[in-house]
Amino acid sequence: MIETTRSPHQRSAAPVGLGSGCEQHAQCLEYFGTAVRELLELHEQQWLAIIDGDEDSCRFDVLIHMANEKKQAAKYAYLRHVEMHGCSDFLPAKNKLS
Ligand SMILES: [Zn+2]
Repeated sequence: MIETTRSPHQRSAAPVGLGSGCEQHAQCLEYFGTAVRELLELHEQQWLAIIDGDEDSCRFDVLIHMANEKKQAAKYAYLRHVEMHGCSDFLPAKNKLS
C-alpha cells in the first residue's frame, strides 16, 4: 500500500500561504511541510515493517532520526524567517478560524 515514488511538486494543490507576497515565507513553509510528510511516511513504513515481521525495522530509526533533524531545521528556518521578516500575519488560514 506504500507508494515510494513521489514527486514533491505534484501536490501543488496544497494551500500554501500565497497572497502574503512573501515568496520566502511560502518556500519555508513548503519545505517544512515536505519534511513533516517525509517523517510521517517513515513512521508509517516502520510500522508496516514491524507488523510485517521485519526484524530489520530498526534501520528506520536512523532514517527517522535524520528526517526529524531535517524537520527541526526546517521549522527553525521558518520561525527565524517569520521573526526576522515579520510576515507571520500572513499565515495561511488553513484549518484556522481567526
Ligand atoms: Zn517573509
